[in-house]
Parts: sequence; structure tokens; C-alpha cells
Amino acid sequence: MALPRFSYLVPKNLKEACLMLAEHKDKSRILAGGTDLLIKMKNRIVQPEYIIGISNIPDTDYIRVDREQLVIGANARLSAVAEHPRIQRYFPALAYAASVTATVQIRNMGTVVGNICNASPAADTATPLLVYDARVVIMHPEGERNLPLDEFFKGPGLTVLKSGEIVKELILPLTAGRSSSNYQKLSARGKVDIAAIGVSVCLLADENEIVTQARIAIGAVAPVPKRIGRVEKYLEGKGLTQASVKQAAQISMEESAPITDIRATALYRKKMVEVLTMRALSSSMEQIRTK
Ligand SMILES: Cc1cc2nc3c(=O)[nH]c(=O)nc-3n(C[C@H](O)[C@H](O)[C@H](O)COP(=O)(O)OP(=O)(O)OC[C@H]3O[C@@H](n4cnc5c(N)ncnc54)[C@H](O)[C@@H]3O)c2cc1C
Repeated sequence: MALPRFSYLVPKNLKEACLMLAEHKDKSRILAGGTDLLIKMKNRIVQPEYIIGISNIPDTDYIRVDREQLVIGANARLSAVAEHPRIQRYFPALAYAASVTATVQIRNMGTVVGNICNASPAADTATPLLVYDARVVIMHPEGERNLPLDEFFKGPGLTVLKSGEIVKELILPLTAGRSSSNYQKLSARGKVDIAAIGVSVCLLADENEIVTQARIAIGAVAPVPKRIGRVEKYLEGKGLTQASVKQAAQISMEESAPITDIRATALYRKKMVEVLTMRALSSSMEQIRTK
């Protein structure tokens, strides 16, 4: 199907993009890699009159890692995040999630920020970013604000972004201490496909292998990707035994609220949340033991 007609605007910088968004309001959309937006336009799900192309704005595809944090710019491609050696080392769940998002061609076009702004409950990079406590830096014509990613999603396809606002970057603090993390994805066609279920885990443990901090997030099984506080509280202060992993997985399943759709039934999704949580926790604990 052909694209509907639109005017293509080319801002010189992100500030100008914000001004264009503020001027054209609901009639405009940002285009980064276009791998979500153009499909939606072809299918007439959205029909913006103005497309604001940001992919050629200089210095917006940065990935910076220092001793304290990782910063991912608005135009950093999924492939760049997947292949970045320091992301692979310090944020392995994110590197892995980016590496199993779609196909090579799409990873070379699509951005991590676009993956988040599209606000699909199944977005592959959402749950790893949630367990790494990512913050979203939002630019608007008067300045900037930032908030935890946890507060960014409002529903399927919906975010807190207001008219004139654009995501400038994502900031992830480096986790100090004995930590490990893991992303588990299940989809109908292996890695190429959108996730039917996604589970991310990030654990911190002391020298006795007692969990001092647990972060766990689930995707594609609720209206938004979300952290599961009940599991996190349950795990903290415990060793990871078969019994505690099983109980944590059971709570994960109880906290999911999936629907039946083209990718999987609600019943199957619920059961697989339990299975993927067990796999993610077991794998994370294994990594901690070998550190
Ligand atoms: C065949 C196919 C397979 C796919 N498989 C997967 C998969 O396995 N897993 C997965 O998670 N996704 C998948 N996707 C979806 C898509 O590729 C990703 O979500 C990608 O990361 C989107 O990034 P983009 O830069 O192309 O976003 P775009 O399409 O450019 O933008 C997406 C949305 O975000 C908004 N946006 C983009 N950047 C900003 C910004 N800086 N500030 C504010 N708003 C912004 C746009 O206006 C638009 O609404 C697939 C897509 C296709 C076509």
C-alpha cells in the first residue's frame, strides 16, 4: 500500500524539531528510522500531514559510557547498541535485546529511542531499559525535563510526551557491585519477530550470593512494559534456590495480564511468563556464581 501524502520537514537540530512539533501539534510526527511510523502510515493507522525527519541531525546518534552512566542519543541505531562492547559488558540484557530486535536491515535503520517512543507493550528494548533504571530525557521548546522510564508509558502506543516534546536521550546508571542481568524473549518466528513475551532481570548479590537488589520487568503481557515490584520485594534478602526461583516465577505470572492476539493466547502467555522468569533468574544467578 502506498504512503499517504505528507510534507517532509528537516530541522537543523532537536530544538528546531521541538518548535516544529509545537507548531503543527497533532498533525505532525517525528521520524527517526521510520521502521514503525512508515508501516503505520501505510496502514492508515496514523496520517500525519507533517513528518519531521530527525535522522540527519548531527551529533544525535551518540552512545557514551563513562564510570557512572550510559547515555544513548535519539538517533543511536539498534545495531550500534547491540554491537557496542561496553554495552555488551555492562548492560548485557540491553545489548542482547537490541540484537534480537527484528532483522539486520531494520536494526540498521531503527533506533532504541524510536522503539521506546512507539510504546508497543512488546518493544524488545523496553524491559531491559526498565531493569537498568533508565531515565528519559525529554526536550521541549523551553528546555528539558527527565523522568524514569517506568513513568513514560501510558498505554499501547501512548506515552507522556506532550505537544512540542521530543526524546533527546536515555540515561542508564551503571550498576556497582556483583550484578548480572538477562533478557528472555519468546516469539513465533524465533528472533525476527515481535515478542509474544519478554522478561528482563537484573540482580545484585552479596558475597554469600544473597540477593541485595532485584529488578524484574515483563513485556507483551500487560498494556505497558512494567516492573514487578512484588517479585523484586520477594527476592530481596533471599538466596536464589530452586524454591525461591519457582515462587518468584509464580508471582510474575500472577502479576501479568495478557490478552489473546495473533501472537499467542492469554493462557499460553501467562504460563510462559512463569517459564521465562525462571530461565532469566537461573541464568542471572549462574552468572553471579561465576564472577
Ligand atoms: C518487519 C519488522 C519487524 C520488527 N520487529 C521488531 C521486534 O522484533 N522487536 C521490536 O521491539 N520492534 C520490532 N519492530 C518495530 C521497530 O523496528 C522498532 O520499534 C524500532 O526500534 C523503531 O525505531 P525507529 O527509529 O524506526 O522509529 P520510528 O518509526 O522512526 O518512530 C517510531 C515512533 O516513535 C516516535 N519517535 C521516534 N523518535 C522519537 C524521538 N526522539 N522523540 C519523540 N518521538 C520519537 C515517532 O514519531 C513514531 O511515533 C519491527 C518492525 C518491522 C517493520
